[in-house]
Amino acid sequence: MSVTVSLRLLDEGAWVSVNDSRVVGNSDVWRLADHAVCDCETAFFVVEVFTETAVDARSVDVRAGGRCIGCGESATTDWLTVGRVDDGEFRRVAVGGVHVPG
Ligand SMILES: [Zn+2]
Repeated sequence: MSVTVSLRLLDEGAWVSVNDSRVVGNSDVWRLADHAVCDCETAFFVVEVFTETAVDARSVDVRAGGRCIGCGESATTDWLTVGRVDDGEFRRVAVGGVHVPG
């Protein structure tokens, strides 16, 4: 059985919507490791806009534009996992951890 997940960007990329609920918003700070955003070993990346979303079997991924508050560099991230789909329910990953785009 396949589960259909409806994934959209709302408000010009300010929100990621899964199954018509706003689940991830911009203005979060994501700690990124092993990333191409800037030269910081760990980037403290302030999301300004989500540019793309994708869902595969289980994970909901986004690309986001924003800025590293460590060095000021602006960039767009590679794919970041923002949540998982489990029995048709969206479960958000903890933003507080370190994330590796790819
Ligand atoms: Zn930086």
